[in-house]
Amino acid sequence: MVRVSRLPSAHVVFGAQDVAASGYAEPDAVVFNAKVYTVEPGVPRAEAFAVKGGRFLAVGSSEEVRKLIGKRTQTFDAQQMTVVPGFIDCHNHAVGDQLLYEVIVGNPFEVELVTLDSIIDKLNAKARQTPPGYWVEGFFFDDTKVKDKRQLNVHDLDKVSGDHPVAVHHRGGHTTYYNSKALQMAGVTRSTPNPPGGTFDRDETGALNGRVTDRAEVVFEKVGKRPQYTAAERLQRGRAAMAHISKQFVRYGLTSVHHEHFDGPDALRGIEAIRAQGQLLHRVFFAVTGHQLEDLIESGVQTGLGDEWLRIGGTVEHTADGSFSERTMALSIPYPGMTSGYKGNVTETQEVIDAWVLRMHRAGIQVNCHANGDVAIDEVLTALERAQKAFPVADTRPQITHCTLVNDSLIKRIKALGVVPAPFTTYAYYNSDKFHFYGEELMKRSMAYRSFIDAGIIAAAGSDFPPGPFAPLMGMQGMVTRTGWNGETWGAEQRVTVAEALQINTLNGAYASHEEHIKGSIAVGKLADYVVLSEDLHTVVHDKIKDIKVVRTVTGGNTVYQA
Ligand SMILES: [Zn+2]
Ligand SMILES: [Zn+2]
Repeated sequence: MVRVSRLPSAHVVFGAQDVAASGYAEPDAVVFNAKVYTVEPGVPRAEAFAVKGGRFLAVGSSEEVRKLIGKRTQTFDAQQMTVVPGFIDCHNHAVGDQLLYEVIVGNPFEVELVTLDSIIDKLNAKARQTPPGYWVEGFFFDDTKVKDKRQLNVHDLDKVSGDHPVAVHHRGGHTTYYNSKALQMAGVTRSTPNPPGGTFDRDETGALNGRVTDRAEVVFEKVGKRPQYTAAERLQRGRAAMAHISKQFVRYGLTSVHHEHFDGPDALRGIEAIRAQGQLLHRVFFAVTGHQLEDLIESGVQTGLGDEWLRIGGTVEHTADGSFSERTMALSIPYPGMTSGYKGNVTETQEVIDAWVLRMHRAGIQVNCHANGDVAIDEVLTALERAQKAFPVADTRPQITHCTLVNDSLIKRIKALGVVPAPFTTYAYYNSDKFHFYGEELMKRSMAYRSFIDAGIIAAAGSDFPPGPFAPLMGMQGMVTRTGWNGETWGAEQRVTVAEALQINTLNGAYASHEEHIKGSIAVGKLADYVVLSEDLHTVVHDKIKDIKVVRTVTGGNTVYQA
């Protein structure tokens, strides 16, 4: 059968014949002869659909939908290619500015091993163009994607410069490597104690090795110089950065992204500017923080204000602990394989999290907390439980971003609160070289998509770019196989089916922003966001899912990317 849309301005359900007979309802486009995976409960497959006014007008068989083709209808014979809903990423830092303007020392999008020398060379070149006293920084470093069989250290970075503070930021976002000049400017010496929630790491002789974790990085924020820009320059840069990242997203089939920006106002202005110029190719759920968040609460603005292209999101991730990939997340047991007894970094006290969560909850701002380790997840759940007890609100869908290491008791509490976990997607493929640090016992309970589904929890996809690449097909391959680029398989119990992986990356993402009624599946009346793929992800060999090509990405009926 053909399902026909309720037209936005008509509020009438048309039968197929009515639509065909009405010039008004003539579709803008018809796609037919496709293998359509709708992700719509009850009607998983179709061959064709019609689009009008940026929404799906009809979904059904090729024969039925082709009857709707009118004089002005564009037609697309998909020749049995696969079509799926546009992908949705619920946690992405969208750092177009880094990609455009900064020194990139690792591959942001794919697995690629580099040499420490290549990093030093790139930073040397930057130092030569930079006045003394200004920061020289590298981004997208990944400590397990280096060909040298050793860690980057302070001596490497001293080769870059003795006159500039030098920093190499791990793409995971929780550790940075500094040169001696930077350590000296920040007043960090061999005898400086570790602050709460962070570490100044040392070599076997007790000397600083340059690696600094989590809250210990704060002291570097106040030293060294960085270029200053006028408001007009910042807007121009923000605009270019957003236009750039939007193009990257649709290249990989993403049509909706939850943006996490720590420089909220400039990023939001950049998005508004490129939207006005027709360069915003994906939909944005914009997470807020800092002054911007305070202003919204003050003025009574709640999560969800906006339209289907740009909506005020929940909070930027409130960070409760360290990093999974950089091995600083807060565990209830010492890190396996470490003799020091280190259990990771808890970066926020229970009292602070309690007060913050309650305040957001009461203000109608969707809570989003970063918690990786079981200790941090427990802390966040405790805060959410206390907030709900003090001020009950139905269907709040708080997000626990990453929500990496769980157990049965945490899963029960996640289910009871209606939390949406957004675990890492691409890590199972991209970061398989790091899982030996945790071991199989912990990996069985990490990135626990299978456990969440089995418990009836709606989990969404969170690439966390830059920490993980954002390619949804790479993410789905990892979720389905739990096998990484190096051939290692970890936590095979947490595998999901292709259909489940697809739903996590589409409809569940729409649910996370309370938008499942308007997007996330190919269904009559929903926004016409879809992706045409070169091969069928359901039938291709599982370890080739990431190699499927995105042939075309369509947002709101407009082709925004074509291979
Ligand atoms: Zn995070
Ligand atoms: Zn993040």
